[in-house]
Amino acid sequence: MERNKVKMTCAFCRGTGRSRGGVCPVCRGTGTVSLSEPTRRCAYCRGSGLQQRGSVLTCSACGGVGWVTVEEDAVPCPPCGGTGMAPESRLPCLTCRGKGFIPAERAKRLPPAKRPPRRRGRGYGSGKVTLEY
Ligand SMILES: [Zn+2]
Ligand SMILES: [Zn+2]
Ligand SMILES: [Zn+2]
Repeated sequence: MERNKVKMTCAFCRGTGRSRGGVCPVCRGTGTVSLSEPTRRCAYCRGSGLQQRGSVLTCSACGGVGWVTVEEDAVPCPPCGGTGMAPESRLPCLTCRGKGFIPAERAKRLPPAKRPPRRRGRGYGSGKVTLEY
């Protein structure tokens, strides 16, 4: 199976190559990172490259790149619902390691998803999910 490499903008430095007065540790100052296709926005950091909002640590799921390589047949990870975050701990989901996607083959072998409790009122983060059509 051939995998094309794609250049993605480094999320950690937003393509500037600089971070906190120094060279961005993620892209080593190039502003871009190359990843194997297919890529998805990292679910855990939502493409920010940060471990947490306002954090200066790189996301442990994508290493600060903001993008992850997934399988061709990747599907949203059932345990975390594709958020990349374990519902209880808010740590990277152990099944997908924060990517939010796992190979369809693996998903089939997992027990059916437990619906995470709905978050009401307090909006979490900026990514609002609405399921209305
Ligand atoms: Zn960078
Ligand atoms: Zn990430
Ligand atoms: Zn997961």
